[in-house]
Amino acid sequence: AFEVLIIGGGPAGASAAIYAARKGISTGIAAERFGGQVADTMGIENLISVPYTEGPKLVAAMEQNVKEYDVDIMNMQRAEKLIPASRPGMLHQVRLENGATLKARSLVLSTGARWRQMGVPGEEEYRNKGVAYCPHCDGPLFKGKRVAVIGGGNSGVEAAIDLAGIVGHVTLIEFGAEMRADEVLQKKLRSLKNVEIITSGQTTEITGENGKVNGLNYTDRKSGEQHHISLEGVFVQIGLVPNTEWLKGDIELSQHGEIIVNDRNETSIPGVFAAGDATTVPYKQIVISMGEGSKAALSAFDFLIRNSVD
Ligand code: FAD
Repeated sequence: AFEVLIIGGGPAGASAAIYAARKGISTGIAAERFGGQVADTMGIENLISVPYTEGPKLVAAMEQNVKEYDVDIMNMQRAEKLIPASRPGMLHQVRLENGATLKARSLVLSTGARWRQMGVPGEEEYRNKGVAYCPHCDGPLFKGKRVAVIGGGNSGVEAAIDLAGIVGHVTLIEFGAEMRADEVLQKKLRSLKNVEIITSGQTTEITGENGKVNGLNYTDRKSGEQHHISLEGVFVQIGLVPNTEWLKGDIELSQHGEIIVNDRNETSIPGVFAAGDATTVPYKQIVISMGEGSKAALSAFDFLIRNSVD
């Protein structure tokens, strides 16, 4: 059995593994795909002290960093069930898809999240070539250009306000008859001169040429008319889905499916901690996940020294 078992090998999990191993306790990390969302990322410009890197490069560096320590890395292992300890200090169990069961005195859950996609032609093809999901990450790449934001909920409207200060022009497209964001955000958005808001708009295709986005097509759901907009970027903001389906019923989740954590990364189960995009921590970013992973590991260590049953 491990003293700390980490589920998920993105920035949060890698950071938790290093912090746990540096305490000299037995540490394991099981991940469906080591690297997580970072593996799907092109340029990264907001990892402090690293002015520019690329996803696969950062994944290799994270892996090398983890391997400098005595950490049991179990890659390509998908967790499918959590069986909490019968009482604090006893062993938790995690059942893997391959049928094996891992045991540990404490757990750090860091299974991350995935962006909800529109599922329209061109979205996958032009991902990272004009189709973006993270305004904090990719907004500056569209300086002075024309972009669309898909989705009029809080994240879409916040993204549109944020982008309006950087890019040349923003078109926000909301599927419903009205935006769903908080009124204060909608008001702020309407006050911006370089923003157009389209409601009852269903995006049907992202178009491009020479391997780059050059526009999008949408249907006006009221009139049924088709429209084309020329632009260079599309930010899809229709939700971030936490990878926590496997935890449902065993641990407390928010209404959005995020693992509820407090400021010490404790979950509803003693000895089970969580970190990163899978949790209720606000703002989903690499530096934040790394910070949260290290906090979760330190909390796990604290738990272990207080609940030693030996
Ligand atoms: P993730 O990176 O999602 O990692 C989750 C880990 O858990 C993976 O190893 C996954 O395989 C594993 N996993 C999931 N389910 C299971 C399971 N059931 N069993 C076992 N393992 C499981 N942030 C920035 O700061 N800067 C950027 O420039 C930036 N650009 C981005 C670009 C793109 C295209 C995307 C998608 C995201 C970007 N982000 C960026 C966000 C950033 O990648 C995330 O905030 C960060 O990766 C979250 O780290 P995490 O460790 O919490 O989760």
